Amino acid sequence: MNQLIKHLYKGFFSLITLFSLFFSTNLFAQSHLNYEISFPDPSSGSYRVEMRISGLSANELTLQMPRWMPGYYQLMDYGKNVQNLKAFSQSGIELPVSHEDFSTWTISGIKSETLIVRYDIQTVRKFVATSFVDKEHAYIVPTNSWLYPKGRLDLAPELKVILPDGWADVATGLKEEGALSYSAEDMDVFFDSPLLIGNLEELPSFEVAGVKHRFLAHQIGEFDKQDFINRLQNSLEASVELMGDIPFEEYTFISIGPGRGGIEHLNNTTFSLDGNQLQSEGAVNGAIAFLTHEYYHHYNAKRIRPVELGPFDYQKANRTTQLWVSEGLTVYYEYILMRRSGVINDEQFLSYFADLITRYENDEGKSFQSLEESSYRTWDEGPFGQQGTAQDTTITYYEKGPVLGLLLDFAIRNASDNQQSLDDVMRFMYNHYYKDLGRGFTDAEIREACENAAGMPLGELFDYLQTTKVLDYQKYLQMAGLDLEKSKVDGKDKFTIVRSSDTNEKQSKIYKEWTEGNSH
Ligand SMILES: [Zn+2]
Repeated sequence: MNQLIKHLYKGFFSLITLFSLFFSTNLFAQSHLNYEISFPDPSSGSYRVEMRISGLSANELTLQMPRWMPGYYQLMDYGKNVQNLKAFSQSGIELPVSHEDFSTWTISGIKSETLIVRYDIQTVRKFVATSFVDKEHAYIVPTNSWLYPKGRLDLAPELKVILPDGWADVATGLKEEGALSYSAEDMDVFFDSPLLIGNLEELPSFEVAGVKHRFLAHQIGEFDKQDFINRLQNSLEASVELMGDIPFEEYTFISIGPGRGGIEHLNNTTFSLDGNQLQSEGAVNGAIAFLTHEYYHHYNAKRIRPVELGPFDYQKANRTTQLWVSEGLTVYYEYILMRRSGVINDEQFLSYFADLITRYENDEGKSFQSLEESSYRTWDEGPFGQQGTAQDTTITYYEKGPVLGLLLDFAIRNASDNQQSLDDVMRFMYNHYYKDLGRGFTDAEIREACENAAGMPLGELFDYLQTTKVLDYQKYLQMAGLDLEKSKVDGKDKFTIVRSSDTNEKQSKIYKEWTEGNSH
């Protein structure tokens, strides 16, 4: 190749590069995804979605429905609820649709820049991980609702809500663009933003570190709402104090009605709650603990996350061995935050951990399944381990996870002469992996963070994670001047945690900072 041709060739090549860069950027800029949700007959339990996809250049488009909802680690195959799907060209001509599997539809013969797809979602189950509609309200689970162009999770969707007559309110974490108009920066945020629609009750809003927190509810019932909100606010303030950051402009508690379960999101949580049940201090504390748990998840699970959990693959099980961190340590901090905010006292605090140990020690599955394995297998066994089998061979990370968190925290405090704690590990994971690197963490990285905080290897504790070895509670509890006592109730072991009668200065300091907190 001579110099002139080489020069021309290079020039031509960069022209192509420039052209394709312009073309692809242009294509990206022109692709729009608009959804409209309406309720032609709410009493039938169904709702209608119309999606308009513009900026198309191909004659064929594949759409998919997610198979699961982040935060609820079970395959739900939401595509099964899609009915009456029809596709139309810009001029209203109905187009051929092939249905490849429960989650996938391909539309062909498009020949226009804009495609309109209309379908209904039939709801059947009132549950936090499924959409539900009746004549009074609608709970819309995004992964149960929004088809998306295959491979285009980068698109920034817009949503318009058409309210049925007599309904007035929408609660959602989506960005509001105008009356009943919303947007999300990409499909991951859209899939993370459920909607509660109807005539909602709003509890008093409050600020945490200058950020507005709202509480909107369907059928919340009667209880002392101001007292409840005050306690909740205290507990949330403790969590922001622990982590030293608040990563959103507004947070919304979305209470979907009586029932069970809650799911965490980036700037909101959706959960079932029956206020009529909150008539004793124990019941109120239980509900505060539950909401503190969901709230702390916006740090731990949504932002501090295992590499396997985000970006998500919505079409398959996203298995991880790290739910002992995402769920287990969230349970651990739910109790820590309740104590540090003064919602519960020392006695109640210690009894929470004693109850966890009692439940774990009475679980026959403890000799069969490791903590990591219970996380990995949750997609097959459910969040609380396999139920209803003759031989119980599974455990739950909701129990052994926080128990390991407790032992790890004491080990780190003891080894570092109380200069470091699990709090420092959580702050490090948040600041380093989420804020600085913008990614999830690996098994090795959480272990490394714990061992760096301790300044020594923590082999025995990480053995507890990967094996079924018997836990040496006393060794770790005494680091904070605590003793584990065992008794028998109805033939089962019952454990109690008590403070030792004589403790040295180091043990007292560890106990004090564990219960009261300290920000290094
Ligand atoms: Zn959780």
